[in-house]
Amino acid sequence: MDVRTGRLLRWYDQNARTLPWREIQDPYRTWVSEIMLQQTRVETVIGYYARFLEAFPTLEALAEADEADVLKRWEGLGYYSRARNLHQGAKQVMREWGGQLPADPAALRKIHGIGPYTAGAIASIAFGLPEAAVDGNVIRVVSRLYGVTDNLGEKGARSRVEALAAGLIPVDRPGDMNQAMMDLGAMVCVPGTPDCEICPLKGVCEAERKGQAADLPRLPKAKAPKELQYDLCLVYAGNRVLMRRRTEKMLQGLWCFPLWPGWKTGARRAEEIKSAWGWPVEAVRCEGEAKHVFTHQVWRMTLYEMDAPKEAEAPEGYTFIPLRDLDSLTLPTAMKAAKKLAQARGKASGDEE
Ligand code: SF4
Repeated sequence: MDVRTGRLLRWYDQNARTLPWREIQDPYRTWVSEIMLQQTRVETVIGYYARFLEAFPTLEALAEADEADVLKRWEGLGYYSRARNLHQGAKQVMREWGGQLPADPAALRKIHGIGPYTAGAIASIAFGLPEAAVDGNVIRVVSRLYGVTDNLGEKGARSRVEALAAGLIPVDRPGDMNQAMMDLGAMVCVPGTPDCEICPLKGVCEAERKGQAADLPRLPKAKAPKELQYDLCLVYAGNRVLMRRRTEKMLQGLWCFPLWPGWKTGARRAEEIKSAWGWPVEAVRCEGEAKHVFTHQVWRMTLYEMDAPKEAEAPEGYTFIPLRDLDSLTLPTAMKAAKKLAQARGKASGDEE
C-alpha cells in the first residue's frame, strides 16, 4: 500500500467525523448525503438529511413523491436543481434498475444528476469499489500532496490531479480512503493556511516540504457574480398575495412574488401594473431593500407593498395565494424578507396565526 494511503487511513481510523450517513450502509442514503453536501456545509446538511429521509425513507418513496413535496423538504438548502435531479434520478432507477442503484460507476453516471464525483462516492462508499471521488477538498489535498503547481483551469491539469487521487485508492478500503481525503481537506488541509504540523502527511507532502502549501492549488479566477436589480412587488388582494411558480431553469418549481427588472419609483410600478394586468393598485409603500447572493448572480431587490382590488383576478401565470397558506409553499431564500413582510401583514389582518 502507498505510504500516503497508509498514513491517511490510520489517521482516519482515529479522527473520522461521526456523521449520520456514515452509520448505515445504504446506497440510497449515500446518494442523498452526497447530493446534499455539494456546495453546502456538513453542519447544515445534518438536519436536512434527517428530515428528508424521514419523509422519503426509501428510493421508492422518493420516486413516488410529488416534486412539490421534494422541494419543500429542500427549502432553504439552495441549489434546488439538486433536489429535482435527485427526484428524477430516483424515478429513473425505479424504471431502469428495478429500484436498486447499480454497483457500477459507468451505469451510475448515466443516472439523472449523478456526475463523476457522486458516482465515485456511491461506488466506493456504498459498494466498496476502488473508485476515486474527487471534490474540491480532494483536489486541494492531492494538489498539495504531490506539489502540483499547474493552474487547474488549464487543459488536462484537473485530470492529472484526478489520476493522482485515483492512484491513492486502495482496493480494500476505497470508501474510507475517499472519506479520509474529504475529512483531511475539511479539518486539516483547509483552504488558505493548512495545519501541516498536525497533518498525517507531513514529511511525505511536496507542498509542505517546499513551503508552497498556502499557494496551492492554483485555481482559475472565479468570475464575479452578475448583479441584477429588481423591484419585488407584494401585491395584496385582501388577505391574498400575488405569486408565481417559476418555470425558468433557475429556481424552477419554487414560488416567488412578482419581480420586475430594474428599479423604478412605486408610482411608476403602479402604472405599469395597471397597464399590464388591468386593475389599479393603491397605497404603494416602499419597504426597503433585500439582497440575495447566488453562485453566479446577486439579486438586489427593492421591496414594495401595494393593494389591488379585493376581488382582482390573478394575471395569467400568477395565483393569488391566501396569506395563511404561505408556509405550505416552497419559496427560495431570496424571497425570505418579502415573505416575512407578507406574513406580518397576514398577522396584522388576523388572517394568520
Ligand atoms: S502536510 Fe500540509 S499541505 Fe500537505 S497535505 Fe498535510 S496539511 Fe495539506
